[in-house]
Amino acid sequence: MRKNFLFLTLVLLICLTSFSCQRTSNRNQNKGIILASFTVLADIIRNVAKDDFIVRSITKPGVEVHGYQPTPSDLVKASKAFVFVDNGFGFELWAEKFVSNLKVRRITIADDLDPIFISEDFYKGKPNPHAWISPKRGMQYVDIIVESLSELRPSKKALFQENGKIYKDKLARIDEEFSLFVNNLDKDKRYLVSCEGAFSYLTKDYGLEEVYLWPVNAESQITPKRMARTISLVKDKNISSVFCESTVSNESQMVVVNETGAEFGGNLFVDSLSNDNGPASSYLRMLEHNLNLIKKGIY
Ligand SMILES: [Zn+2]
Repeated sequence: MRKNFLFLTLVLLICLTSFSCQRTSNRNQNKGIILASFTVLADIIRNVAKDDFIVRSITKPGVEVHGYQPTPSDLVKASKAFVFVDNGFGFELWAEKFVSNLKVRRITIADDLDPIFISEDFYKGKPNPHAWISPKRGMQYVDIIVESLSELRPSKKALFQENGKIYKDKLARIDEEFSLFVNNLDKDKRYLVSCEGAFSYLTKDYGLEEVYLWPVNAESQITPKRMARTISLVKDKNISSVFCESTVSNESQMVVVNETGAEFGGNLFVDSLSNDNGPASSYLRMLEHNLNLIKKGIY
């Protein structure tokens, strides 16, 4: 009797669990899973989609994205999604191969953006992928995402537009503040020195000169010629601070610091958000963190 009771309880438990699992999975399917290639993009999409889609990122916070190697569990994750959103402009070197075996719809943000081209080295003539680093371009990302989500779910168009507007207002405040800072800066101080050449859109949009140690993190090696050029430029222009990015080593930039007496201004977040406890746990926080470091370092 006791045995039967235990057996029945077990069966009931399994039924309940599988029923609730099925319900969860149905709910997920109804909502639709959007898979972004990197954390920054996932956060922007989340701010437009709110509760209407489940948004996930293939790469995790803090990870180098350009040369990422997708894992088998990434493929499993991707097979549950119905849309894959990537940045494009050659940012995700792994994306083509990754999506080729999946039956997902693909949205590439760069298809609707104007590129700035890389001017030197191996990547010469290729588009610089880091458009999101400029708040002005970030607002374009929001527009593209509002448009894309509205196509996926036309009945929610007004809601996505409203979410997008609220989000863009926040970006506009960051944009205005940074414009004001650069406009008040002496013209001969308007230099941004970084490890990766990831700031072309930011520097172009706000009127700064960009100096970097290597064009794209996938290379992340500095030639002696470029090192010498950077050191002499920092000395000549009396540049107060130089910066590096969170996903690469500061080692090369510390050579510039030691040779020139410039300060190390800190790590800027570019390709990846920080984890929840870090200073760049969202796209807005990432921009604020970067622009605050730049404001503090350039004087
Ligand atoms: Zn990068």
